[in-house]
Amino acid sequence: MKKHSFLHVLLLASFFLTANTETSYGQKAGVNVSAWPRGITYEIFVLAFADSDGDGKGDIKGMTSKLDYLKDLGVEGIWLMPMSPSPSYHKYDVSDYYGIHPDYGTIDDFKKFIEEAHKRNIKVVMDMVINHSGSQNAWFKDARTNPNSPYWDYYVWTHKDDPQTTVPGRIIAGDSGNRNRWNKVEGSDYMYYSYFGGNMPDLNFDNPKLREEIFRIGKFWLNDIKVDGFRLDAARHIFPDDRPKDNHRWWVYFRNEMQKVNKDVYLVGEVWAPAEIVGPYMQGLPALFNFDMGGAITKAVNTGRADSLTINHKKIRDFYKSINPGYVDATFLTNHDQNRIMSAVSNNLDKAKMAASLLLTLPGSPYLYYGEEIGMQGMKPDEHIREPFIWDEKAKDKSRARWVTPRYSSDSSVVPAAQQMKAKNSIYNHYKTFIQLRNTSRALTYGELEPVSFDNKEVCAFIRSTSDESVLVLHNLSTSEITVTLPGNLTEYSKVAFKNKDANVKNNTLKMAAYSTVVLKK
Ligand code: CA
Repeated sequence: MKKHSFLHVLLLASFFLTANTETSYGQKAGVNVSAWPRGITYEIFVLAFADSDGDGKGDIKGMTSKLDYLKDLGVEGIWLMPMSPSPSYHKYDVSDYYGIHPDYGTIDDFKKFIEEAHKRNIKVVMDMVINHSGSQNAWFKDARTNPNSPYWDYYVWTHKDDPQTTVPGRIIAGDSGNRNRWNKVEGSDYMYYSYFGGNMPDLNFDNPKLREEIFRIGKFWLNDIKVDGFRLDAARHIFPDDRPKDNHRWWVYFRNEMQKVNKDVYLVGEVWAPAEIVGPYMQGLPALFNFDMGGAITKAVNTGRADSLTINHKKIRDFYKSINPGYVDATFLTNHDQNRIMSAVSNNLDKAKMAASLLLTLPGSPYLYYGEEIGMQGMKPDEHIREPFIWDEKAKDKSRARWVTPRYSSDSSVVPAAQQMKAKNSIYNHYKTFIQLRNTSRALTYGELEPVSFDNKEVCAFIRSTSDESVLVLHNLSTSEITVTLPGNLTEYSKVAFKNKDANVKNNTLKMAAYSTVVLKK
């Protein structure tokens, strides 16, 4: 954690004072106190984000041209979905771990992107997909029908007559399906194991040669290309489901190896499971996605009731902290594998904004999914939660990708980013305001969580405190104005430090508009 000068503290205090007198939209003279990875990270599906050459496919140069947009939004890190050569549009089945897909550009384009991101103090995290390779990977192509291949043991095989090949898979996690995981190979007596389907043969991590190969790949991107870290896909499936301890230990080993080339390497793991299964991965992975909280926020917004939202979040945090006190709670609303938040709240703009207000005031290191900040919509199948970003009106939009015909996010359903940036009540400016509020507050960036319970469950209230700052945050999840009486132990929180709609506090009574947020300080 960064130490801050007395001047910073003064400037921060003055931000809260000026915010007191007005609804705070747009630029404020606050000083950024967040330090990555405790700031905002933005997830990009490159194919859909920004096209630089008019071929309709998003690419690295397109992303580079949008770095100022991300900087202006308040983003401090970018998570890039896979960019290596692969036959699929999503690229989670890697053919060449050392390359960049030609549709996206070149290694030099990527180096330039990282250089430009770093100039803006934005870190770059790459998706690393190592549970499996793609079936078009040279290793697999060589091994496929040849047990004498040097790459045979990179994969997991069994004879077709082995009784285990008839056992169906089990549904045990959000990312798994109920299927037989053994796959036939034409012209061979052997079958290969694949957790996610035939195009993604699982790699064999019992093979020390394969492990060395994976370390080489990681070190290449960290050392030669200068990425800042990895988002680790399918982190709980490296070893089979009945060997969770081997999975936990593998990530400790992996992290140690990566730290040999970058002691500050950032690793965030995808373990799509309840907190008790996620927890032990904290031994090796300093950051893990908090799948529980995204769903809980969506539920609270949809029901208009906070119920035990903050109590549950605190429980999860206390559990993670007991395993690794320095852990990073990677919170998010939805990602590229889930229906977009706007669709999850039935396209209700107030609810989508409230989901963002909660995410950006609760503890954690929030991840945004590209387009969320302009209210893009999207429902499964996956292609339609990954539709092209809408930069400007179609006729003027030189950056818009056309990789898929949108079903949900078009000019008729989403106001383009360029127009939203100029409209003070847009969802874009709502995100920007809350990101700025968070980034300039030590309590909101680093503070612990203390749930506050009111009889009225339409209010979600909590205290966030660090040693030098304490704020009481209240969200009105309902459709009408609410009056709340602060209990005796909270009456010292008497000043409005931030509000995004009408609100006032008088004689311990707080009045707040529908779907509004108020931050009180002492
Ligand atoms: Ca392109």
